[in-house]
Amino acid sequence: MQTKTVDGRMFIAGQRTWSRSAATFEAIDPATAEGFATVASGDKSDVDAAIAAARAAFEGGWAGLPPVRRVRILNQLAGLLRERRAEFAALESLDVGKPLRQAEDDVSAAAGYFEFFAGVADKVFGSSIPLGKGFVDFTLREPLGVSAQIVPWNYPLRLASRGLAPALACGNTVVAKPAAEAGLSIVRLAELAGEAGCPLGVFNVVTGGRDTGAAIAAHPGINHITFTGSVPTGIAIMKAAADNVVPVTLELGGKSPNIIFADADLERAAASSATTLMQNSAQTCTAPTRLLLERSAHDRFVDLLAQRIRTIKMGRGLDNPDMGPVVSERQMNRVLGYLNAAARDGATAVTGGGRSTSRELANGYFIEPTLLDHVARGSVLEQEEIFGPVLTVTTFESVDEAIAIANGTPYGLVTGIWTRDLTKALMAATAIKSGQVRINAYSVEGSIGLPFGGYKRSGFGREQGVEALANYTQIKNVMINFG
Ligand code: NAD
Repeated sequence: MQTKTVDGRMFIAGQRTWSRSAATFEAIDPATAEGFATVASGDKSDVDAAIAAARAAFEGGWAGLPPVRRVRILNQLAGLLRERRAEFAALESLDVGKPLRQAEDDVSAAAGYFEFFAGVADKVFGSSIPLGKGFVDFTLREPLGVSAQIVPWNYPLRLASRGLAPALACGNTVVAKPAAEAGLSIVRLAELAGEAGCPLGVFNVVTGGRDTGAAIAAHPGINHITFTGSVPTGIAIMKAAADNVVPVTLELGGKSPNIIFADADLERAAASSATTLMQNSAQTCTAPTRLLLERSAHDRFVDLLAQRIRTIKMGRGLDNPDMGPVVSERQMNRVLGYLNAAARDGATAVTGGGRSTSRELANGYFIEPTLLDHVARGSVLEQEEIFGPVLTVTTFESVDEAIAIANGTPYGLVTGIWTRDLTKALMAATAIKSGQVRINAYSVEGSIGLPFGGYKRSGFGREQGVEALANYTQIKNVMINFG
């Protein structure tokens, strides 16, 4: 990739554009701490323009288009994404720092979202309700209008597509706001949507930071907000939405437990846990970073996992290492803060535990893949989302204790369970308070069809699957008396 040629302009009403204020910020390569693009910093007037464009496109025809045309456009967009996979993956890898092959998977997943929701765009059925002789009653599922999509930096393309695809499929228009840390791929996606036949103004992107997001969330011209990110920001967005009585869909991360019973296939569970660290340096909302080990399996599992972790090679994402840096200096310092607190809390680092000491990686934001043992129940490390390459180990003695520890945080996004005893697995699965439970595998092909979202402070509303359509439609009931 020719890094100098990365375009940092936003995308409003079908045009690449700088901010009206001419304000900019630098996009930073987290592997080198060097800037690689100058990015437009959108303000309130840019947000006004993007929302006006989206409103005009909504009223001007996108909502009323025969759904089968939206099917074609979304499929076309998916096809173009697959064709340009190398370009999008290189940009994502450079921007976020993740290994190139993981960025390629992200592009495929993004295309998968558009294919899945293209498949349902002409199947957003209502129902008919019997009222007796002389009456017909039916429901229509109509789009909401302009959907704001406020996206985090960890999986810009994938997470933007997760919300954009159902929003567009249902006939809404969108204004997306990537995170300032990373998200240039979302602007390229909007351009590509134009090539795929998306009319002007249907898909707009305003780049910028917190203030830009806040200006969108508080804008009276939007009809819905999808947000993925931290709990405090989710709360701020919900409060802003309340003033305009606008529905929100919130995915606020997690502290996902991975319960490993002694009878599990420990080799497979250890391999899966090592992957958790390597996958985007564990900056993943679903990452099962809280290992709960049955005491009798503790020593063997820790040993197996530590051996794997010690082989992880770090490097610049574009060079396709096992693991890249974290996204920013701020995120690195946040994670190091947790690691510094570990010893105070009585935890011990089995491997890793700090910033990389490698001279080649000294300029970038590299943190060693870390396994912390003896992490106390209720401690900060066991309760808060670290969002970096750190796994914590806590032990349990019984199924009931495992469930109590698993449920003992404010979050409830995903839970992993590893055991050969399916009765035990199902007992735990039904008692667990999280939106997904994954038994004996943490990932599966086709997961786009599985409803995904939080219990408790992990948020509400379901993304993915046909359940996601509920976020992007409102129901109108039509009653007719023809008697
Ligand atoms: P954040 O939640 O503040 O940012 C996410 C998005 O929200 C960005 O686009 C940001 O510009 C925007 N934003 C920030 N303040 C806003 C506001 N008041 N109104 C509207 N939009 C606003 O996340 P962060 O500060 O970058 O990261 C902090 C922590 O959040 C991380 O350490 C991690 O624990 C968590 N996080 C979770 C996810 C996830 O996938 N659930 C993703 C990123 C970060």
